Amino acid sequence: MTVEADVVIVGGGLHGCSAALHLAQRGRRVVVLERRHVGRHSSGINAGGVRTMNRDPAEIGLSVAGMELWRRIGELTGDDCAFHAHGQIRVAETPAELAKVAERVAMVRRLGFEHEELIERDELRRLVPAIAPHCVGGLIVRDDGAADPYRTTLAFGRRAAALGAEVREGEGLVALERAGADWLAVGEHGRYRAPIVVNAAGAWAGDVAAMVGDAVDLRVRASMMMVTERMPRFLDPVIASVGRKLSFKQSDAGTVVIGGGQQGTADRHTEKTRINFANLAGSARAAIALFPLMQGARLVRSWCGIEAETVDHLPVLGRSLAADGIIHSFGYSGHGFQLGPICGSVVADLAIHGATNLPIAGLGLERFAAQAANGKAAGIGH
Ligand SMILES: Cc1cc2nc3c(=O)[nH]c(=O)nc-3n(C[C@H](O)[C@H](O)[C@H](O)COP(=O)(O)OP(=O)(O)OC[C@H]3O[C@@H](n4cnc5c(N)ncnc54)[C@H](O)[C@@H]3O)c2cc1C
Repeated sequence: MTVEADVVIVGGGLHGCSAALHLAQRGRRVVVLERRHVGRHSSGINAGGVRTMNRDPAEIGLSVAGMELWRRIGELTGDDCAFHAHGQIRVAETPAELAKVAERVAMVRRLGFEHEELIERDELRRLVPAIAPHCVGGLIVRDDGAADPYRTTLAFGRRAAALGAEVREGEGLVALERAGADWLAVGEHGRYRAPIVVNAAGAWAGDVAAMVGDAVDLRVRASMMMVTERMPRFLDPVIASVGRKLSFKQSDAGTVVIGGGQQGTADRHTEKTRINFANLAGSARAAIALFPLMQGARLVRSWCGIEAETVDHLPVLGRSLAADGIIHSFGYSGHGFQLGPICGSVVADLAIHGATNLPIAGLGLERFAAQAANGKAAGIGH
């Protein structure tokens, strides 16, 4: 039997589940096909950073708009997702790094945004008493924060299901075929027919894009994380660094969660990852440099995710170039968690109206042709 829907979504990560929630909220019949289980990959195991700070100019508007949804995440999903808006700070260790922060703040102001501020030594020390004494200030967004990634992804999936979406776990898409004006999504266990298909397949989205004739140069990121035993409370904001690869936060439970983009290795085909301990030690050194109290802290666990990365580190969000009825939402390149709630709304707009008022200019597939013509890939702040 073929299941009929208005929209079939491939991928039950945060982006697929968020699209499902927004579409179901607007009365659409939605089926989500998830090969493993909801939140199995990046969406369930990331650092949980909810960050508008230091984004590429092309995604600042979308990221800032996304904070409005994070502020009412409980109402949207039925779960507070352990979201806390304790702020995020990108620490400068030298006057030269602080000068870079000042340039960044000026650039963001010129674009019309006010959320990023420069802070100097005293304010940094007031907000982060445990910071190393040599640090001179930083970039802050006071209402950025962090949430629990797995809980958030499950909350979106559950609310989508409560609103009528059918979330099929253990169902991998194997083919997409035209069926008149519709698409026939052929799964490992069933067949699904709809006029619109959303490609939210994370690191595997290039395979889905290829099924409809869109070629995209997609690489794999394998960001690593580690977590310490519980420590007495010493930190509220999320900390990053201007000069080092670091993201550093203390969870509600007291554990310290350390990431920042150091890479392990990942195999897309087996879905297996491997920790690179030499690189992981780099994260540990960065953490100790900024927080001397971390010297001697005991690690209890480390892990590594699989994620899609585009050549310019920006997501692909928009309609297929090759086929009608296909909407892409993938390639979040290490910073897609914060964007999950708002990008689901964008996908719903595109599926229902064919357009959106949200700022997605520059995020479509067409940019790669333009970049190839210019002989370069743009992008900062990933
Ligand atoms: C260690 C780590 C730390 C990170 N920290 C942050 C952070 O602090 N802040 C931030 O904003 N971002 C962060 N990110 C990035 C963020 O996690 C991702 O950008 C985001 O989760 C991507 O979500 P997604 O839904 O696109 O992909 P995924 O979560 O990978 O979901 C894609 C889903 O598609 C399924 N799938 C694939 N192919 C098929 C198929 N053929 N049929 C059916 N299902 C299929 C997969 O099983 C998977 O569940 C981090 C990532 C990692 C790995």
